[in-house]
Amino acid sequence: MSDILQYALLGLGAAAGYTLLGSGVILISRGSGVINFAQGALALVAALFYHSLTNVMRFPVYIGIALAVLVTAVLGMVVYFVIMRPLADSSPTARTIATLGLLILLPGLAVLIWGIGPFSLQPFLPRGTVEIFGAAISWDRLILIAIATLVVGVLWVGARYTATGLAFRAIAENSRATSTLGWSPIKLGALTWTLGSALAGLAGVLIAPITTVSADGMPMMIIPVLAAVLLAGFKSFPLLLLASVATGVGQSLIFNFVPITGVAQSLPFILILLVLIARGRERLSRSLVIERLPMVGSGRVRWIPLTIVVLLVSAGILFWFNDQFQAAATGTFGWSLIVLSVVVLIGYTGQLSLAQATLAAITGMIAAKLVSEQAFPLLPAIIVALITTVLIGLVFALPAVRTRGMNLAIVTLGIASITSDLVFKNGFFTGPYGSIFVPKVSLFGFDISPIRNSTGYALFAFIIFLLGCLAVAAVRRGTSGGRLLAVRTNERAAAALGVNVVGAKFYSFGLAAAVAGLGGVILAFQNSAFTPADFDPMQSITVIAYAFVGGVGFVLGAPAGGQLAPGSFGAWLLDVIWPDASGVWLQVLSGVFVILFILLQPDGFARDWVKAADAIRERPRRRSPSASAVKSGTLESELGAAADPSEVGEVKVAPKRLEVQDLTVKFGAVVAVSGVSFSVEPGEVVALIGPNGAGKSTCIDAITGFVPSAGRVKLDGVDISKDWTHARARKGIGRSFQSLELFESLTVQDNLLIAADDGKSRRYFGDLVSMKRPELGPLAKAVIQEFGLADVLDKRVNDLAYGQRRLVAVARAMASEPSVLLLDEPAAGLGEQEKKEFEGVVRQIARWGIAVLLVEHDMGLVMGVSDRVVVMDTGKRLAVGTPAEVQASPEVIAAYLGGNDKNESASADAFTQETVVLGKGQSQ
Ligand code: ADP
Ligand code: MG
Repeated sequence: MSDILQYALLGLGAAAGYTLLGSGVILISRGSGVINFAQGALALVAALFYHSLTNVMRFPVYIGIALAVLVTAVLGMVVYFVIMRPLADSSPTARTIATLGLLILLPGLAVLIWGIGPFSLQPFLPRGTVEIFGAAISWDRLILIAIATLVVGVLWVGARYTATGLAFRAIAENSRATSTLGWSPIKLGALTWTLGSALAGLAGVLIAPITTVSADGMPMMIIPVLAAVLLAGFKSFPLLLLASVATGVGQSLIFNFVPITGVAQSLPFILILLVLIARGRERLSRSLVIERLPMVGSGRVRWIPLTIVVLLVSAGILFWFNDQFQAAATGTFGWSLIVLSVVVLIGYTGQLSLAQATLAAITGMIAAKLVSEQAFPLLPAIIVALITTVLIGLVFALPAVRTRGMNLAIVTLGIASITSDLVFKNGFFTGPYGSIFVPKVSLFGFDISPIRNSTGYALFAFIIFLLGCLAVAAVRRGTSGGRLLAVRTNERAAAALGVNVVGAKFYSFGLAAAVAGLGGVILAFQNSAFTPADFDPMQSITVIAYAFVGGVGFVLGAPAGGQLAPGSFGAWLLDVIWPDASGVWLQVLSGVFVILFILLQPDGFARDWVKAADAIRERPRRRSPSASAVKSGTLESELGAAADPSEVGEVKVAPKRLEVQDLTVKFGAVVAVSGVSFSVEPGEVVALIGPNGAGKSTCIDAITGFVPSAGRVKLDGVDISKDWTHARARKGIGRSFQSLELFESLTVQDNLLIAADDGKSRRYFGDLVSMKRPELGPLAKAVIQEFGLADVLDKRVNDLAYGQRRLVAVARAMASEPSVLLLDEPAAGLGEQEKKEFEGVVRQIARWGIAVLLVEHDMGLVMGVSDRVVVMDTGKRLAVGTPAEVQASPEVIAAYLGGNDKNESASADAFTQETVVLGKGQSQ
């Protein structure tokens, strides 16, 4: 019993470290909206600086501590002003990547300045012991946890009772609110970075004597720290203390009583996974701030340059390269594939997953074991390993379905670390030497072992690499790529268009696992021994950095970024240019590059290559008018066919009747929609009107399955009120959003193509080998013609004028060929002329046989276009009837229409306010 207590209390030291580091993470995350993955790296810098001051320069301990903390604080402030402040308007992902850059850079610099370590620092806290319930516990642990508790207390009181604290708590809710409190976000950002970094410094100095200080150890303390922070919900300092103590003590106990490698390290993440599973799925919430996302390539294969490159590289491998060069080529192909998996996950799908190198190593390990221990031939071994990895990748995707954004990054980093600790460092899996020996690799009877036949192996790696790239490009071009991009850009809109968001995420993780796995296989057989433990979580992080430097949205970004990996062409080149540079320089360069690229060119190298390639291609066209005429000619004839009135007449949707019975939606105590019933017939336009806050948008959200509701929604008599959003879309319910929710970073054409997707799962597999681009259906083509969008098809949505964006939103909803179309204030903010045109558009949509529910404020438009009107107020249905009947209804007049000038201008005011809010991107 006293044994248990003894070990439990021993864990208090780590708990104190986690608490101090974690409170810095919370401070920074609330003050500047970024999770600082470099918190442990800052602690390392502080510890080493302290080491120099006290051990080398013989400063007194307390001056050493004070200076080390001060230096870290200043470093944090510099980081804020040089990196974070300029990124204030970038996406949280971009800012997180910048801190990952620091996590790569700082330990690299530390090695250059102080050497590799490990360093042992003199303890300065008293080491005597006290006896507590029979357990002897040393004073230093008690003092450490007391300091941590004190810091937490100060932060808690500060956040609660000071003006700064109020601003600090407000900013997380709404940055504008803070400015009205007299606090600029800049001041708060600078303050939290300085303070947060000072806390990292304090943690580093305090725990340095009780742990080993090394460049690859201390920075990775961020992993359990983030687990504790996540458990504390990113907010509460006292909860953080609790979570840290639970983690530290639990780890100490497990470490001493469970003799299995890695279990202790895995504890925090096992807790997190349990919490996530218990919490259930996150709903698709209404307000999504529009963020700037990395640009994505088109997935088009430029055959001529590709052929030239393939011929050159093959010739190099076959005739010119020496063994060293072959090895560099092989390394490049392997690492580039792992980077390519990041393109799929982050670039295409927006899932910040930090476990790709881990997945690569899993595949490599399985394949190597099958070949060396089970005497499998190479190809079957690879296939079995890939299938296994894809299944594991799908398990990794589970948290992605339950959580989003930064939480996902933390959880996947945790999984990477668990796998590294439990599997890669475990002799049970990797043998007594931690390596799997593969003396011979042969393919179809040819010996392609790299030591004997480096040419053969490099060629084999090149082919695998090419196949991986072509498959990913094909996915990008195809329907499945559209689904991934839709999920990345806007999950709500994706679901409304019938994209199964969960399915798309699983696909992305599965595909990325396979692609990374191919890279892992190449690297695993490259040397005669494969050591999975080399693929620690840090590798997964550096791979993300490579991807952002190369271009995370482009297939080309993979080989471009892969050049930073150790053992690649780039590394070889660095070695030639600068023979004295050690491997750590590559790390430092990666860190510097990723930060510079995020700041200056977040789309990476590849973007400019692609632009240059396209410019060369386009030049002759621009000069000769006939060529461009041919191009636009084909487009026009394509559309012209649909524009022909007789053809348009043939456009048919399955006519379906929408029936809403007794619909009720509650948000807590607010009843947003209360017992509303109405129906819309095919070909009919029903207007849904009512003052702001009446519950109109909520009605549409309920019909489309975005909010839970009571009552029935029937489509042609079939109850769909239990279906998921995407399933309702598949059955024929299309919608537009009040806040548009277009896929901003994609072209109009891509927006429409995503909508035109038939949702079949087999496309996920067909697309991998398909050369075709998906096509728009006849209805979509007719809509393009009717709405006059033919000229802007290739433009990105965020480059369009306001009115056109509104039209694209309706066109996108139409491209899915819905039977029922729900339009939420589609004409808001349009001029009089545009509104007139829009009236024609709505009538045309009804003529195609679609049942239209139109939410609209402009009474002129409503009366002109609708067959019937449903009036709502404070969640209830007030009246229903023809426009004339409704206009005559005394209740409606009293409640809403008014009819005199005063009321009309009031409602116009309300409406203008709404557009202003929308203009700020603060969607309703
Ligand atoms: P309308 O579209 O008619 O202007 P809404 O449907 O947007 O009105 O809102 C109806 C009511 O429901 C409002 O009082 C609004 O504040 C409330 N509401 C809407 N969405 C939510 C939500 N996610 N949580 C809480 N209340 C909400
Ligand atoms: Mg609304």
